[in-house]
Amino acid sequence: MPDDMARPLIRERAGGSRHLEASMLEPSTLVIGILGTGDFSRSLARRLVASGYQVVVGSRTPARSAALFPEESEVTSQMEAANQADLVFVAVYPEHHSTLVQLKPALAGKTLVDVSNGLQIKQEGPSNAQQLADLFPESYVVKGFNTISAWTLQAGPRDGSRQVFLCSDDQNAKSSVMQLCRRMGFIPVDMGLLSSSLEIENLPLYLFPSWRTPIICALALFVFFYLYNSVRDVLYPYVTSKKNNLYKLPIEIVNVTFPCVALVMLALVYLPGLIAAFLQLWWGTKYNRFPNWLDHWLIQRKQFGLCSFLCAVLHAIYSLCLPMRKSARFQLINKAFEQVQTGRPDSWVEEEVWRMELYLSVGIMALGLLSLLAVTSLPSVANTVNWREFTFVQSTLGYCALSMATLHTLIFGWNRAFLSAQYHFYMPPTFLLVLILPLAVLLGRLALFLPCVGHRLRQIRRGWEKSRHIRFILPDDDCRNGLENVSNVSMHVDAASRPARCTSAAAISLGGISPRPLTYSDVKCQMFLLLFFFLPL
Ligand code: NAP
Repeated sequence: MPDDMARPLIRERAGGSRHLEASMLEPSTLVIGILGTGDFSRSLARRLVASGYQVVVGSRTPARSAALFPEESEVTSQMEAANQADLVFVAVYPEHHSTLVQLKPALAGKTLVDVSNGLQIKQEGPSNAQQLADLFPESYVVKGFNTISAWTLQAGPRDGSRQVFLCSDDQNAKSSVMQLCRRMGFIPVDMGLLSSSLEIENLPLYLFPSWRTPIICALALFVFFYLYNSVRDVLYPYVTSKKNNLYKLPIEIVNVTFPCVALVMLALVYLPGLIAAFLQLWWGTKYNRFPNWLDHWLIQRKQFGLCSFLCAVLHAIYSLCLPMRKSARFQLINKAFEQVQTGRPDSWVEEEVWRMELYLSVGIMALGLLSLLAVTSLPSVANTVNWREFTFVQSTLGYCALSMATLHTLIFGWNRAFLSAQYHFYMPPTFLLVLILPLAVLLGRLALFLPCVGHRLRQIRRGWEKSRHIRFILPDDDCRNGLENVSNVSMHVDAASRPARCTSAAAISLGGISPRPLTYSDVKCQMFLLLFFFLPL
């Protein structure tokens, strides 16, 4: 065995620069060098050896690190590794790149893969890879593998992200690394020129960028409704009748707060699509850019929807746990005693029974539909359905979920909105506040169902413009389900902000394009929009 270890695994090669062609990348003929012997280097060496490559590792102190590497690889000095390798991974921190300059002649003409990450998100370059390219102008620098952790490399691509983002100014060098990537079981993603390296280096540093607004929104709503409910249900009884309801704070108040947040967040999923549709109707064109805030909102609907789903699930779990509490048991026993004492043992109230049955049934349906939306928003599931199926689930079933959740709240409120005793400190009951936004969204959606509005919107989504030359009449059977595109609400993609996709075979026929003055239908549509916006005011 010691003899085997001593035997050089990498055969001697002629020195000089070799610029790899993709076709040369046969694992058995290729020597891959790795500079650095840290965590990343060790995992990479294992993966490369497992993929059939010859690996030579360059270290400042080879004797110290050799035992940590697979025995099929060779650990040697940096210079020796640079000389032997055809393609070199630079697995040292970027602040130490400059210590490798003495390897410049040995690395000339070779491909260098920079795997380094930055410490913080940078908006402006130069990136680590660009700096490395400046240090080694005679080498071909490829940025990549920095989004793959040492753990993923070691465990294999099945246990972690499989995509490897690559960029380089040299197409051949990039192709070589892409091929190597595939052989290792990863999926290379071509990100273009080395100028994209800043973006690639920033990728692992982002902390849920698209989740920030939805989470802040959900937290703000939670704090608002929690305080609102506490004032009504804890402070009010204490001030008016010295009743101590503080025990309600951990469970009961939280349980009534979660559905408030869930319903408002769900309405916020559908609101931007409606705003987009009404803006397009107002402008009479789809070619105006939406304001930035609306663009961002449209893009983040999936996250809004998932936050809503989380709150709905927590509400369901809290509700199931309500009867387990000691306070609930004491209240039940007290009520039973009270009824025995007053001689009214029959506590059956028909109206209450029906209210609760309906309330629970509709709530369960709303949660079921929300679960379906959440599951379909997973990329792996979304990829298995076509555009029409996806739109059906996210838009049609999504609106069903919103309607069910609104109905759930309406039944919860029942006739209590009309009881003056419900207006503690002149504050309306929480369910009344919560209903404003979902009802507005549902009404807006109904408005888009009106033929004059829906038809105009379909035309606009197909390129019709009020003030320009592109005017045409849609054939009756044009869009099978045009309204699905009206406010194409999804937890997954930004559909409303891009041109509507009509799967119908009917396209805009040139013969149909007809410049024409403002018609009765235009006027009707604009009058309706005016009424819709200004009547509530
Ligand atoms: P590490 O464990 O600290 O290893 C860095 C290696 O750099 C050392 O073992 C050292 O090996 C070598 N080195 C060469 N010149 C050096 C110098 N002047 N001073 C200090 N060390 C020097 O780091 P790592 O986790 O392997 O990360 C290496 C690179 O991979 C970094 O750029 C990192 O951003 C990137 N990366 C890491 C991961 C990960 O999961 N760890 C993931 C993606 C990207 P010798 O002493 O043998 O020369």
